[in-house]
Amino acid sequence: MDALLKGITKGEPLLVVGLVDTDAVEKAKSVHDTFPTASAALGRIMSSALLLSSLLKTGQKVMVQVSGDGPLQGGLAEADASGHVRGYVKRPHVHMGLKDGKLDVGRAIGTGYLNVIKDLGIREYYRGIVPLQSGEIATDLAYYLNASEQLPAAVSLGVYVDADNSVKASGGFLIHPLPGAGEDAIGRLENRLKGIRPVSAMILDGMGPRDIMEEAAGLPVDIREQKNVSYFCPCTRERVLDAIAALGAAEIDELVGKGEPAKAECHFCRKEYLVSREELLALLMDTYSGPSDTMTS
Ligand SMILES: [Zn+2]
Repeated sequence: MDALLKGITKGEPLLVVGLVDTDAVEKAKSVHDTFPTASAALGRIMSSALLLSSLLKTGQKVMVQVSGDGPLQGGLAEADASGHVRGYVKRPHVHMGLKDGKLDVGRAIGTGYLNVIKDLGIREYYRGIVPLQSGEIATDLAYYLNASEQLPAAVSLGVYVDADNSVKASGGFLIHPLPGAGEDAIGRLENRLKGIRPVSAMILDGMGPRDIMEEAAGLPVDIREQKNVSYFCPCTRERVLDAIAALGAAEIDELVGKGEPAKAECHFCRKEYLVSREELLALLMDTYSGPSDTMTS
């Protein structure tokens, strides 16, 4: 079952996060009809958002956006502090040959940027952006944490897609030395991680997040937090109308001019919303008078 765990190693002060999100990524694959390389990219982006979400407080959200010049063009995923995740890639029907026996996510994404936006609540946002190091996502996320959040961390991500196109394994881990971790402990960890097998192989062997954390750190872990993970889209009709309102008067006017209901599809769950001509006209009026909720009475 999908879960996200956070803990501290016994003996050495290392923060360890472990994740299995196979079912959520399989769900995302079905929603977006992704081909294997695209499934792997989407899974790794979703896993990145979930690993970062383990550092959030209740009510906060994090979005990881990857954009590149490769055939996939990029994708994004959003996760909240309750283990909900959703995401999409721009070009779902991308599949490329294997590289060293693995799905070639780096080539599918190409060169570009990794962008992280945290919604900290009460209209407070944090943004960080770094150039992609490899496009393989895990090294890019580690680079982002180090460069943008001054949080040195080792990150590993893995997605295994079977011959029948189903997602058989997805997950990852993150290890960050806490204050008090000695140089020798960090050196030992670095050496250990060089020889560690892929996370996808561990999950295929039936290992859960806790097993992954302990295999990665080489130490028993004291679990401090545990969450179930699921693919969940909180989109509503109101938010879709807000998104149309944000297009501006000229675009809405064009939709009204077509004389039929407008179709709006949620990027994350592909649910289709039909917006009537009357609703479009009301939105158009709002763009001239300003949204009612910002008017003072
Ligand atoms: Zn949706």
